[in-house]
Amino acid sequence: MYDFDSIIGHNMIKEHLKMVLKTGKISHAYIFSGEKGSGKLTMARTFAKTLQCEKNGTNPCCQCVSCLQTDDDNQPDIKILTKEKASYSIREVREQLVNDIEIKPYKSRYKIYIIPEANTLKQDSQNAILKTIEEPPDYAIIILLTENINSFLPTIISRCIVLNFRPVDKELVKNYLIKQGIPDYNANMGAVFSQGNIGKALSYASDESFIEIKNDALKIVKYLDETDEYTLIDSVNDMAEPKDNIGQYFDLFQLWFRDMLLLKTGGNKEKLLFKEEYDTLLKQSESRSYMDIDNALSAITKARQRLEANVYTEVVLEMLIFAFVKKDVS
Ligand SMILES: [Zn+2]
Repeated sequence: MYDFDSIIGHNMIKEHLKMVLKTGKISHAYIFSGEKGSGKLTMARTFAKTLQCEKNGTNPCCQCVSCLQTDDDNQPDIKILTKEKASYSIREVREQLVNDIEIKPYKSRYKIYIIPEANTLKQDSQNAILKTIEEPPDYAIIILLTENINSFLPTIISRCIVLNFRPVDKELVKNYLIKQGIPDYNANMGAVFSQGNIGKALSYASDESFIEIKNDALKIVKYLDETDEYTLIDSVNDMAEPKDNIGQYFDLFQLWFRDMLLLKTGGNKEKLLFKEEYDTLLKQSESRSYMDIDNALSAITKARQRLEANVYTEVVLEMLIFAFVKKDVS
């Protein structure tokens, strides 16, 4: 299931890790940094699988007991930390990592700890981990996955090898989706709107409702300058039911205003995500100041935060729409 050849993009990271595997110069701690869905966990699992593979190659053999166990999430010396709440508790970190790491590997060469969403580690947990990273047992390897490297104490960062996950080339994403059996049109749309994020691309392209959501979102943003605020708010409220898809609407709104900003700064039409809406985008970009567009983009970020903080959806959407409609003509 997991091997380096089936991971698309991230060539620099793959080369780095393969070099590490070849030379045996393995660090005790790594930070994989990149946005949600960028492939950090898949890369970490593949690296861990290869480290533990009985064949000692630079790619897992996918046949030995260890490889098969890794694919089944059942390798006793590869631990993926879990948390009950939004962030790790100090107890969880102690039980699953700090204390556990003292116990020698069950049967493999290494004992590998993968920490998903390590950006949610609070300071006390980070301090506990820091002590382990400072004096790790020979066999220990810790891989921290984070969406925001700035959440770490500088002392943690300085002891880790940091690998940054960048967006994957659109064509590579598209070809990958087609290989997964996704029809061309959906694959193309997934590739374009995911902005090089494989996780998002897969979910967009395989989710039939994404096309519907995209069309719905367009119905809002296309008519921002022709419809009154309250009609817009009503439409958004209708669309946002059920609430599970609201994040996708926000993603699309964000891409719309990014396109507008691109045109405002004299960007090329070919670079637009909503290429087919060029005329509308141009008109809207001309009727807005930089500040208006910037406000709209920050309003989307704020709306996400407010929803996370459990502010009423209706209120959040209302504030959002007010930030979208033009205020002054520049
Ligand atoms: Zn193997």
